[in-house]
Amino acid sequence: MINFTVGPVQSSDAVRAIGAEQVPYFRTSEFSEVMLENERLVKKFAKASDDSRVVFITGSGTASMEATVMNVFTEKDKVLVVNGGSFGHRFAEICRIHEVPYTEIKLETGKNLTAEMLNEYRGCGYTGFLVNIHETSTGVHYNPEMIAQFCKAENLFLVVDAISSFLADDFNMEQLAASVMITGSQKALACPPGVSVIVLSGDAVKRVESNSVKSMYFDLKDALKNMERGQTPFTPAVGILLQINQRLKEIDTIGGVEEERNKIANLANHFRAGIKDLPLDICSESMSNGMTPLATRNCSANDIFLTLKDEYGIWVCPNGGELKDKVFRVGHIGCLTREDNQVLIDALHDLVRRGILK
Ligand SMILES: *Cc1c(COP(=O)(O)O)cnc(C)c1O
Repeated sequence: MINFTVGPVQSSDAVRAIGAEQVPYFRTSEFSEVMLENERLVKKFAKASDDSRVVFITGSGTASMEATVMNVFTEKDKVLVVNGGSFGHRFAEICRIHEVPYTEIKLETGKNLTAEMLNEYRGCGYTGFLVNIHETSTGVHYNPEMIAQFCKAENLFLVVDAISSFLADDFNMEQLAASVMITGSQKALACPPGVSVIVLSGDAVKRVESNSVKSMYFDLKDALKNMERGQTPFTPAVGILLQINQRLKEIDTIGGVEEERNKIANLANHFRAGIKDLPLDICSESMSNGMTPLATRNCSANDIFLTLKDEYGIWVCPNGGELKDKVFRVGHIGCLTREDNQVLIDALHDLVRRGILK
């Protein structure tokens, strides 16, 4: 199979080799060093301020979304949630469950957030802003600078879920004055699922320390304290953290986050050029380099997903809910090449010849 989904994605051979080894004991200075190096490289690639801290949560991206909301907001806050799809909806649900007052900015599928939309919420007493910078369910990449400007002017505590965007799109946490950035192991980090990452600015660390959280596993105070020496309060997904270490060092070796982003952008551009003459329409106003969302015209998108899986050995990413028959998505993250792209482009052309894609 060739995997063009947005997670889990294909890992490098070196990352996979670590998965075949025995998992080492972790309360050691050697593992602490790995964790501190992971923190240093994540901060470097997120362009986080020096006083930022990183915690690694054993749990998928949603665990870090929930832990963040629980630790940095309270019922005294009033937050804006950009809801442009299922991940925005998830942030709203997390606020509801944890009784953090919120207002949703609802967007039509595929539509971008604009400065005019944000203007409506100026001077209304909001204290925080939650956004999935790349709404992976629809493929809309919001403008981080525009959001940051609004949040600076309104003095809002900005939380960015960059789970599918980290390493794929430009992101400068310090310049944007984002207080929190979240990512996960199985998107552009190209490791197995199971670990997610929260980068906390100095501000955010202060909030965590002054909040009381009704949870043992998700109380980040303990995680921050342990991470001072490169440890976690409970047994983490040790093997995945070692794989993350390998992957972060690979990115550092090729020249850092810019090189990785360029590699992903080049793959995306190559794919998008190769499908121009196909009966498929890009259905997002502003895309991430990491993914291309495609609407079918006169056939079911889910049938295309199934046929590619069953007859061509290719996974693309199907959509759920209302978009099931209308949209499928093609990821450009993970260990993929132009040759892989060509296999998918050829398969899609073959589906046209067979009258399946129309
Ligand atoms: C993948 C993803 C998540 C996390 O989903 P999990 O299944 O919990 O890992 C969250 N937000 C966005 C934008 C994502 O793309």
